[in-house]
Amino acid sequence: SYCSFSSRISFLKAPLIPRRRERRFVNAIAAAATTIGGKEKILVILGATGCGKSGLSVRLGTHFPAEIINSDKMQVYNGLDITTNKIPLHERHDVPHHILGDVDSDKGEFTPLDFRIRADNVVSDIASRSKLPILVGGSNSFIHAMLVTHFNPNDDVFNATIPRLISSDLRYRCCFLWLDVAFPILAEYLSIRVDEMLQLGMFEELAEFYNPTTAETASYSGIRKAIGVPEFDKYFKKYPPARNNKIHKSAFNDAVNEIKLNTHVLAERQIGKILKLKQAGWDINVLNATAAFRAAVEPGSRMNREEIWKNQIWEPSLRIVNRFLEE
Ligand code: ATP
Repeated sequence: SYCSFSSRISFLKAPLIPRRRERRFVNAIAAAATTIGGKEKILVILGATGCGKSGLSVRLGTHFPAEIINSDKMQVYNGLDITTNKIPLHERHDVPHHILGDVDSDKGEFTPLDFRIRADNVVSDIASRSKLPILVGGSNSFIHAMLVTHFNPNDDVFNATIPRLISSDLRYRCCFLWLDVAFPILAEYLSIRVDEMLQLGMFEELAEFYNPTTAETASYSGIRKAIGVPEFDKYFKKYPPARNNKIHKSAFNDAVNEIKLNTHVLAERQIGKILKLKQAGWDINVLNATAAFRAAVEPGSRMNREEIWKNQIWEPSLRIVNRFLEE
């Protein structure tokens, strides 16, 4: 059942709080090392939806003096917290999060150029507090727009029919960590996560969000592009939300299956985009999270799940980030 699955993977979320002495030591390194040669240092955590980026970033954010900048293009908007999978407040463990849920979704689309400008200001603020900015999120078009030295908003480097050269000339000193999970294992987890989101109230959230007028227009923009909105719009057009609505099982299951499929497609595309960045010469450190995920999916696994996560994700991450801060 997904309840026991959820408790099995909960170790991805609980941060390891460093001891006081360790924390003082990392404070000293980071304060000396957040800028170099005029360029700010930033840590970038890449990965498909659902691979554990938020958990890792919060753990790193409690270990190092750091602040998190969200780079998921749906999570920048206010509203639809369950549907877009925003990290809940209690899981942030007092690590400040920026550009997360504070863009007004009624004010049109937040573009990659908007993100580039906002995020650059946030980086300067975080650096002025001698803290390390950690960029975390699955929108590679946002990450690309923010990091390249020369950004052309008219050039869609990922979706162009003719392959475009992605520049590796970046305007910050970046350390990249890619949490990579083998696709079949990730897909299995993503389907379970959709069921969990429904348990948490995704359907009710979307019912409240549903607007028959906007649902009539075929074009989706801003937060209305979030997976779940178009899929359930079809359902609500047939069965408009009302108090004490009964669930129409067959149409409901159609929407849920479509959401699962679209989530798999999103994850696959995201992985493809990260590979393009890597091929373009971005110096991306790959952390293979497959074993940690497999251990969570298969309860019979002998080695302790947390142990696998610690050995394969946490410790390599720490080594890489420490080296980067000492540079
Ligand atoms: P693109 O080049 O297609 O704009 P991208 O890398 O900029 O891709 P993605 O984050 O991959 O951005 O988002 C693409 C689409 O995937 C979104 O428009 C949305 O439909 C869906 N999506 C992405 N993140 C979420 C999320 N957190 N919740 C729901 N849907 C999401």
